Amino acid sequence: MTWGDLHTGAADCLEILTTAGHRAYPVGGCIRDLLLGRAPGDVDLCTSAHPERVMALFPRAVPTGLRHGTVTVPTETGNVEITTFRREEGYSDSRHPDGVSFDVGLREDLSRRDFTVNAMALSGDGEVMDPFGGREDLEKRIIRCVGVPDRRFSEDALRMLRGVRFASQLGFTLEGETAAAMDRNAFRVEKVSRERIKGEMEKTLLSPRPGMVGLMVEAGLLDHLYPFPRGLDYFGLEALPPVREDRWRGFCVLTGFPISALPVERKLRRGVERPEEAVIPTLALKPRDLMELGLEGPAISEAQRKLAFHVLECPGDNTTEKLRKMLEVGTG
Ligand code: ATP
Ligand code: MG
Repeated sequence: MTWGDLHTGAADCLEILTTAGHRAYPVGGCIRDLLLGRAPGDVDLCTSAHPERVMALFPRAVPTGLRHGTVTVPTETGNVEITTFRREEGYSDSRHPDGVSFDVGLREDLSRRDFTVNAMALSGDGEVMDPFGGREDLEKRIIRCVGVPDRRFSEDALRMLRGVRFASQLGFTLEGETAAAMDRNAFRVEKVSRERIKGEMEKTLLSPRPGMVGLMVEAGLLDHLYPFPRGLDYFGLEALPPVREDRWRGFCVLTGFPISALPVERKLRRGVERPEEAVIPTLALKPRDLMELGLEGPAISEAQRKLAFHVLECPGDNTTEKLRKMLEVGTG
């Protein structure tokens, strides 16, 4: 595995940073994904160069999180996030560090990262820098905190939701201590913004194992949003198409969760609350067919809604004959 396995824009950024005399490494999710043989998404780099220096080296860089040392460099092959090696200090709000300081080394930068599988970097000569046993945990297929889980979750409560989300996306399990600490620190998720909660739930719901959203519920991570019933079986969600509206609706129908408790877009909210509306234009029987069958006025939209609810349950019945038969039974 080498830097050449990353997209060319990322490899170019590494070249520019190192040629300028700085230390720089690809880090985090892209190393995890390469080791798993998955195509990495966006590439994150960490570097000894200070943010102003990174801004100067890359004229097109966007200061996306300058205070925390992050700038984003758009390249032809994808965005590259470049973050200065940093130490985080104090987390009085269970979500953000009170301050960060630069001038630390790679190991220290890796130690502030959330999970062992996300705390690896790749050197220019192809060596994986892995001080916390990330590779071993990839082999064991577990999500384990770097350091003491209670401490890491009290620093930043979002990590608990991320942990479940990574487990669902990668098909991993939560390591025992990490899972136990989630139960104890679940109440802290109240400090996490609802946009972030929605984001992590949605990634989980759209993953190959959407049923793992049940772990969020059972650990109590979502208790401040809604009094979720316990002990439900979430595995039926896997049978639904991996489409936002369908998976969210499945979750809401199963648990009774009101989607409006989260900041979701109007389209998603309607898709969850009024699923029949999206089906009506796809019905095999069009309004003119219904008119030919003798319906008129409000009876047409009533019939459409009724047919749409049926097709939601039995998509295979969306043919003119079957729908016609349904109406006959209904009116006969
Ligand atoms: P994805 O495939 O979702 O992009 P990723 O691992 O790249 O996964 P990012 O959110 O892009 O996740 O973050 C990049 C890296 O930054 C992570 O791999 C991890 O090392 C670190 N990181 C991100 N968020 C946190 C957090 N809340 N606490 C600690 N480390 C974090
Ligand atoms: Mg990433």
